[in-house]
Amino acid sequence: MKYDEYFSPDFRTARKRFRRAARDAGAKLTKLFWGLRGPLGEKLAIDIAWLGNKKARRILLHTSGIHGVEGFAGSAIQIHLLRHPVNIPPDGAMVLVHCLNPYGMAYLRRANERNVDLNRNFIQHDHHRRGAHDGYHRLHPLLNPSSPPRFDFFTLRLLGRVIRHGFEYLKQAGAEGQFEYPSGLFFGGHEMQTGPRRFLKWARKKLKKARHICVIDVHTGVGEPGKDWLILELNHGGAYHQMLEREYPRRVDTLDPDHTIVYRVRGGLEEGIPTALHRKAHLDFVTQEFGTVSGRKLLHALRNENRAHHHGRAADVLDPTKIALRDCFCPPDAAWRQTALTDGRVVVDLTAGYLFSD
Ligand SMILES: [Zn+2]
Repeated sequence: MKYDEYFSPDFRTARKRFRRAARDAGAKLTKLFWGLRGPLGEKLAIDIAWLGNKKARRILLHTSGIHGVEGFAGSAIQIHLLRHPVNIPPDGAMVLVHCLNPYGMAYLRRANERNVDLNRNFIQHDHHRRGAHDGYHRLHPLLNPSSPPRFDFFTLRLLGRVIRHGFEYLKQAGAEGQFEYPSGLFFGGHEMQTGPRRFLKWARKKLKKARHICVIDVHTGVGEPGKDWLILELNHGGAYHQMLEREYPRRVDTLDPDHTIVYRVRGGLEEGIPTALHRKAHLDFVTQEFGTVSGRKLLHALRNENRAHHHGRAADVLDPTKIALRDCFCPPDAAWRQTALTDGRVVVDLTAGYLFSD
């Protein structure tokens, strides 16, 4: 498989390729569109390709781009899956959800059109959408300065905080999600956003017949550069977890910030999906993260782009902070892209083997 036929340079190309591959594969296509337009006036929509039984009891659900700019790898994997589908039994389906945050992917940012981190937005009760980790309040002036990007010794100041508070504490404080600073990083939103709401409405209607669902949600950025991690929160120790540990050794983790490179989040997609399923459905959920660059570099790039975005550069996809952010989340590196595509595919194949066997 040659990675460059699958990795797209921008959202528009990715969307076109995905839809075309879906049609060629005979998939049923659904579009969730709520009026957003891209830099060239193009429609920004979530596209869903359904392969297999419409009333499937067993569903492999593959999602990409909940973090916008992180969507390039997931999109590439999905286009590959459409061109080379897995074997699906008569009572099964493979469902590909292309880019849950189309605005973020089109405008090269991690948050959505209202600066909301959608993987912190799936909170059931609005009265829980408040507060922030103590450490976030402390970090806020450093993370979210109210001025356009300029050199301000960020790395050195961050290092000072690391020495004072410890790396694990800051990682958890920064990234678990916050509900206090609407233009800050990792803001979870004061209400359910339109994209997630439309997606859950679709899911409630279409996934209700399913009794076993495996979700693979693809992200990039966190972790050792060039390596991927599978993160399980639900059913750890269960059959799916055991299968992945057996077949995919040393790369499977659970969400415990003391023992892993990842962090707990509030309002992630894995909190949203169960609300759309039949109460007897069994859900296995895995987050696949492809490491890109160091955490410090990522945070710096996120901070720069967020500053530029809130100071007049929101619509400029050629702004250097946006290009830098894209390159942090999808390195322009042949080996990285090839590995992401291959490992993304391996996890789908293993999951299909587990879900669709017998
Ligand atoms: Zn992510």
